[in-house]
Amino acid sequence: MRYFILPLLSLLSIVTPIQAQSIKIALLNSKEINSVTVSIQEGRYLLKVGNEIMGEYKKGSIFYISRFGNSLQVRDKRSFIGDFSSVELNSKGNDGVLNIKSVNPIMESTEYDDDLSVKVEDNRMQLINKLDMEKYIAAVIEAEGGNGANRQYYMAQAVLIRTFTIKNLYKHAEDGFNLCDEVHCQAYKHRCTQNPEILEATRATAGSVLVDKDEVLIMSPFHSNCGGKTCPAGMVWQRDLPYLQSVDDPFCINQTNALWTIRVPRQEWLSFISEYTGSSIDYSRYNFSFPLPPRTKLVSIHGIELNLRTVRERFGLRSAYYALEDTGSEIIFKGKGYGHGVGMCQQGAMEMARVGYTWKDIIHFYFQAVQLRDYREMELHRFKPE
Ligand SMILES: [Zn+2]
Ligand SMILES: [Zn+2]
Repeated sequence: MRYFILPLLSLLSIVTPIQAQSIKIALLNSKEINSVTVSIQEGRYLLKVGNEIMGEYKKGSIFYISRFGNSLQVRDKRSFIGDFSSVELNSKGNDGVLNIKSVNPIMESTEYDDDLSVKVEDNRMQLINKLDMEKYIAAVIEAEGGNGANRQYYMAQAVLIRTFTIKNLYKHAEDGFNLCDEVHCQAYKHRCTQNPEILEATRATAGSVLVDKDEVLIMSPFHSNCGGKTCPAGMVWQRDLPYLQSVDDPFCINQTNALWTIRVPRQEWLSFISEYTGSSIDYSRYNFSFPLPPRTKLVSIHGIELNLRTVRERFGLRSAYYALEDTGSEIIFKGKGYGHGVGMCQQGAMEMARVGYTWKDIIHFYFQAVQLRDYREMELHRFKPE
């Protein structure tokens, strides 16, 4: 009896907290995946169908999984394992790594941490990666760029990504997972591999999220470079938020994405203006030059209320923060920054970290009157970890 209970208890104490902080991410969710190979890169795995363990597999094992109608045919190197409606590969420890390659359609192979479940959904395979929350956050940091930055920067970035993750934990609840790997959720391309410091810095902030004065999880946006002045939320989204005000940022102005120039033929500009105004006025004799406005939504010129974001989208500009020079033959946009400009400026934050500011300094510089909480201790209304 003693032998039985002890291993069971120690197993529970190890497994429970990890499972409570795991997250389910749908992989390649917009693709019509019909056949994959999955190989074990690290660790040992159990192949499970429902609650039944079909076998235990070690590093180097490879599985071929193909959809036929509503079922999955599963084979390993040696033999046919069976026809199932769903199948799971569960890592026995915390070190499991799988390599997944779609062979129909053919795609690059990609490494993911921890567990995988596969089932048929809407005439295609649905691949769900269930993994440790912190490993997921580190992978998103890597996908969002900034490799080679200082540890304090990664810590600040981890808190923002974790806050978004917890706030959106039920975004895809009806689909049977938490988030997908696409940009409308958060970019998740593969496990964090290039820089082990990212996962280490993420774990150093484990659990930390940001709330506003009403204890509500905040919107935690970030962008590449604000051009020296961040944007208040209301300029980009429907409403202003007290914790997303404009701040002057001296830290990013000498960084790579601080300045940009785009030239477009004047004729292209004039056709845009007639489309935009819907008017038959001949604007060709007007000069459209304007100096860099403060962070603002609209510039008024020749009676036209020019929406700077609409212009940004139309001409593929890096930001909505620019001056315009009308030379008579071409239009030159002289802009600052890269991205929407709301929240944390990544290049400014990297510079802050480099010159010695802490992750908390960085967060409080870009977000006003926010507080840190541990989501594992919060009463999250819809947070029901399995
Ligand atoms: Zn999604
Ligand atoms: Zn900035």
